Amino acid sequence: MEIESNFIKKIMEDDLESGKVKGIITRFPPEPNAYLHIGHARAIVTNFELAKQFDGYTNLRFDDTNPVKEDSSFVEAIKEDINWLGYEPKNILFGSDYFGQTYDLALKLIKKGLAYVCDLSQDDMRKYRGTLTEPGIESPNRNRSIDENLKLFEEMKAGNFEDGEKTLRAKIDMSSPNMNMRDPVLYRIIHITHHNTGDKWCIYPMYDFAHPIQDAIEGVTHSLCSLEYDDHRILYDWVVEKCEMPHVPHQYEFGRLNITNTIMSKRYLKQLVDNNLVKGYDDPRMPTLAGLRRRGYTKESIKNFILGTGLSRINSTVSSEMLETSLRDELNFKVKRVNAVIDPLKVVITNYPEGQVEWIDVPFNPENPDLGSRKIAFSRNVFIEKEDFLPEKPNKKWKRLSIGEEVRLMYAYFVKCNEVKYDDFGNIVELQCTYDPETKSGSGFEGRKPNGNIHYVEASTAKKAIFNLFEPLMIDSDSKRDLVERLNPNSWNEGKGFVENALENTYPLERFQFIRKGYFTTDYDSKSDVLVFNRICELKSSFN
Ligand code: ATP
Ligand code: MG
Repeated sequence: MEIESNFIKKIMEDDLESGKVKGIITRFPPEPNAYLHIGHARAIVTNFELAKQFDGYTNLRFDDTNPVKEDSSFVEAIKEDINWLGYEPKNILFGSDYFGQTYDLALKLIKKGLAYVCDLSQDDMRKYRGTLTEPGIESPNRNRSIDENLKLFEEMKAGNFEDGEKTLRAKIDMSSPNMNMRDPVLYRIIHITHHNTGDKWCIYPMYDFAHPIQDAIEGVTHSLCSLEYDDHRILYDWVVEKCEMPHVPHQYEFGRLNITNTIMSKRYLKQLVDNNLVKGYDDPRMPTLAGLRRRGYTKESIKNFILGTGLSRINSTVSSEMLETSLRDELNFKVKRVNAVIDPLKVVITNYPEGQVEWIDVPFNPENPDLGSRKIAFSRNVFIEKEDFLPEKPNKKWKRLSIGEEVRLMYAYFVKCNEVKYDDFGNIVELQCTYDPETKSGSGFEGRKPNGNIHYVEASTAKKAIFNLFEPLMIDSDSKRDLVERLNPNSWNEGKGFVENALENTYPLERFQFIRKGYFTTDYDSKSDVLVFNRICELKSSFN
């Protein structure tokens, strides 16, 4: 699937045509403070696909200028996710690689009289900042001499001050209608060990200062980010201009992607993980790329979903159903269709010889002969889904098994239910049925019409399986409500049942259609004595 025409692609085409740029260079700049989520996939797909279309390239640059929250385990996880999506960054870089150059450029601004060391506390700075309707008040330190600023900044770097005691600020305009231009902070003091630079630095540049410098150094032509950076663009351009960067990158903003009933904020995802409300970042209910991967989503389904949402300058919310649709479209023909009984009910075929098993040749996917075929077993003992039996036929629409009714066991024979066995509590534990040898599937039998066609698994050859069945993790999309209250208590259900023996040698992330039950993938925790499957989604949208 090619990226459709969108406003950024148009800008790139125009810039190439006018000669403003010679090629397209983009970057994806995640902060390594959590795992990536499906919202990030929009930024990844957009950056990589656009650059690729113009024969350009994309750098992966870790925005690691805030050491408080960053960690190298996240660096590795992010690399893995991007790689899984099928993208290869031209260079893998770190914002911290540029700390030296960024520091030199800060010195340059001080020498040009465009930056000063400020003593205001964070609280005071906020008070001095003014509001959208009132101009800010200038810092008492705004007119420090260049020499004093150089000396103090040097001391900041040397570790002579505590966290928050001083900052380096740009000297721009305290009455600018854009709050970001009211002498923004360029550097702050943080005494903490950085995952990359260790204890070399105790002053760290702010995103708004570091990012444009990094883009300029790397020769990025189109610096794409989400819409909330819109009113930072003027500062981005100011930094590039005042630092006299030889290459001039430009920032363009696109709308963020939101999905119904889905958390799209690293902060909240981190909260879920850190408070053990989920089983880790790759919990199959999580909207992280690692979670979606474990859930069984394919990279194609994710890419097609992202491309299908288009790209504009408005934040958009799409239904989580769209991602499922993308997966069904892809897997319908691609994967094997096999039998699994998730909630088993034992059926004894009383007129079938004891100890005998017959094998029936069945295609893996009748719509895709390339997938070949396997043999499914039939014998005196089989399992069907509990929900496929009701003692009495409730109405004419009931096309499943009832006492006295006859159904086809898919690909095998007609069976008729004669008797139900109950336990002491009145639960149905076993059905006694008879089969009609005349009715073998494929034999051309046309005598009667069965009351339905249900799947089954033969008991002696079946493999034990656990089926993880999911509902949305969140019950609503109201991000203002408390996270814990929004958690769906039924988001993880477990079925214990059987799959046909053709799945004996399944491996993690192999995908199947379980006939009538949905698309499933084999979980990492699957073992040969008990297989484990995650339901990716049901066969049909439950939406209608
Ligand atoms: P979050 O808000 O979830 O914490 P973030 O934007 O702080 O995410 P970054 O690591 O800074 O996370 O994101 C890297 C890039 O991904 C940024 O350019 C950001 O604009 C983009 N991005 C993040 N979330 C989305 C989203 N939902 N839709 C589109 N782009 C996104
Ligand atoms: Mg961010």
